[in-house]
Amino acid sequence: MQRSYERFSSDVLDAASAPVRLHILKLLVSKGPLPYTEIMYEAKMDPVRDAGKFVYHLKTIRKAGLVAIEKGTKKYSITDLGKMLVEFSRDLEEWVAVRRGRLFVRTSKMTIEEFDRTRIASSLVTEAGMPQSLADEVASEAEERLLRFGTTYLTAPLVRELVNTILVERKLEEYRHKLTRLGLPVNDVTILLKEAGRKHLDSAWVQQSAGAAVTEEYVLLNSLPRPLVDAHFNGRIHLEDAESWILKPSIFFHDPRPFLRKGLPRSTPPVSFETALGALLRLARITEGQAASEQVFDHINVLLAPFIQGVPIQRVQEAIRLFLSQLNWDGFSNSLPFRTTIGLDRTIPRSLEKSDAIAANGKREGVYGDYAHEAEELFRTVIDASMEIARNNLLVNPSVTVNLNRENLSEPDSLLSMTYETSLKYSIPNYRIHDSEQTVTVSSDGNAIVADSTNVASGAIVGTVQVNLPRISYEATGKDERFLQGVQNAVDEAVKALEIRGQAIQERMKEGLLPLLSWETDGSKYYGSQPMAEIGLLGLNEAVRHHIKKDVEAKDSLAFLKEIIEAARRAISESDNPKLRIRVGLHPSPEASSRLAIIDAEKYGFSTIVYQGSKRHPYYTDVPLIPLTQKMPLSSRAYLEGEAQKLLDGGTTFPLLMGEKAEKEGLARASQVLADSGVKHFTFSKMLSRCQFCYQVNTGVHARCANCGSDKLTFVAKRAGRLIPVDLWTEPRRRDLDRIAAYDFS
Ligand SMILES: [Zn+2]
Repeated sequence: MQRSYERFSSDVLDAASAPVRLHILKLLVSKGPLPYTEIMYEAKMDPVRDAGKFVYHLKTIRKAGLVAIEKGTKKYSITDLGKMLVEFSRDLEEWVAVRRGRLFVRTSKMTIEEFDRTRIASSLVTEAGMPQSLADEVASEAEERLLRFGTTYLTAPLVRELVNTILVERKLEEYRHKLTRLGLPVNDVTILLKEAGRKHLDSAWVQQSAGAAVTEEYVLLNSLPRPLVDAHFNGRIHLEDAESWILKPSIFFHDPRPFLRKGLPRSTPPVSFETALGALLRLARITEGQAASEQVFDHINVLLAPFIQGVPIQRVQEAIRLFLSQLNWDGFSNSLPFRTTIGLDRTIPRSLEKSDAIAANGKREGVYGDYAHEAEELFRTVIDASMEIARNNLLVNPSVTVNLNRENLSEPDSLLSMTYETSLKYSIPNYRIHDSEQTVTVSSDGNAIVADSTNVASGAIVGTVQVNLPRISYEATGKDERFLQGVQNAVDEAVKALEIRGQAIQERMKEGLLPLLSWETDGSKYYGSQPMAEIGLLGLNEAVRHHIKKDVEAKDSLAFLKEIIEAARRAISESDNPKLRIRVGLHPSPEASSRLAIIDAEKYGFSTIVYQGSKRHPYYTDVPLIPLTQKMPLSSRAYLEGEAQKLLDGGTTFPLLMGEKAEKEGLARASQVLADSGVKHFTFSKMLSRCQFCYQVNTGVHARCANCGSDKLTFVAKRAGRLIPVDLWTEPRRRDLDRIAAYDFS
């Protein structure tokens, strides 16, 4: 009897006695049942040459009862006996490793690997750029500690953590940063999923947000100098769209004429009005990946005017409706399309009047000044179509900028009157008052790009850095000189960060990551030769109030406000930055305005800081200068905003809320008052709602849809120059929405 047991175990050991057979057994333990071909592939055997040998090996372990064939699937699987044998073989391997005084790592492949300290050293050299001798030292220390711990089960993440600890202890911070793994804690992604549901966003948003979080970490850990990163984290400055800092510019302003003349790469010039719009649409799609936050097509009614000659008006209307709808949101969720802004000119800008007009097939036909009638026709068509779309779906994209001259705003002709009506009903246009000395194009939030040599202002705003002005005021403790020195220091930091972004974009273009921007048009890159950048004076209002101890409208407050803006502009002009044109503006940033206020509240306490909102949800004012929640007559407000906009050379905007009784005539009079006060960019809006059930659009806040009675409504309000679903507003701003002062404009 005993002999038969012995025979059994010796047969089993025999069956596992070839390395390849032991390997197959381990494979089946770690991967589960596998088909014949896959085992062969995994065991690195040649399906033709080794077939005979392989069959023999399989038969041997099967006969010994170590593997079995599953009936239906014909897959090989490990038996309990097989598992026992694999465990036993691992014990043997561990025993010999311990005996040799080695650390070993159990891998997920059921194998034992010897711990190899040279691997740690080499990753320190390649990943962190550490000198070899130091890397060897750190690796030896890691090995020593592991031996001392008596750890037997090592994993790669554990080894990494230990190495990080050693780097911290040895104060080798710089290297540790580079070894950091980027990524999100599991819980953060779970939160993103929940947030998407709550805010009516789609799954693509979850992936984009997760990706953006990783690239932002990369930027802040690896591509900016430590002092700048510290300045961002401790709230002295705030880098807007940090996740794109080293990838692409923030805003891109198009001059599509090269594409109208020659077509997009590997295509022919547009042959008709429809194909010209199609080319713009394709250009817009390509740009989505190559700009971080917005793209702008200015003068579209002028540049496309030559294409509508002789085209029946119905065709023009249809094509425009299609163009706008394609850029608009889909209406299924709150996921917004890439921000696009189109600019309409009430009259042909002087800069384009005498320049060659491009018509169908890329032909030159006269100058744009010849097409005043067609440009007006297109202006009317775009306004008309945007109203028609807004009636059912709201036009949240593109944002529409209307370029106007200062004169005759209060006595509108039929076209301007129609434009005011789109404001009144659907909060669509933003108004830009044209400056006769400069050719300027603005984004929806008022960021301005100024033309250099060409006659259309185009190119990039590489990015925006917000400067935390209230912080400077708290630190200055009432001393003007310290305040202004603080402004200069912060602006210097901002300039450095912007220069890094400008250089990084040049690098990306060289590497081919921004193919549209680096595309050669008439001997120069489409990106343009003189990119711009902006510095935002965040919390200008609160800083002045804290420092002067009076409201901003007080005379000495205004005088100091001017000094601050001048100090910022002076700091820029004194810095050595020939590659970027940097301007100072008031830039909308709900994120920065609450992040910086929260940090300051922790640092200085609520008794010191000046803020908007509540203690639970504090924020600083971004745009306009005077918080919208503050009640003030329109004329005084217009005066203050005008004074600020005259001093700022960069972007800003002035959003105004309309009351229930607003009328077109009231908007016309207000526009004139604003323009006369020096306000260059403004917009009128109301809260809007769209029924999620029947898509009916209504103005004002109501509990139920007026059409179908559903209580599922999406509320949309204008933040700076854009309509944004209220679900997507930051908490502090959403809470203050119903405190915004409305003007009657009647
Ligand atoms: Zn409804």
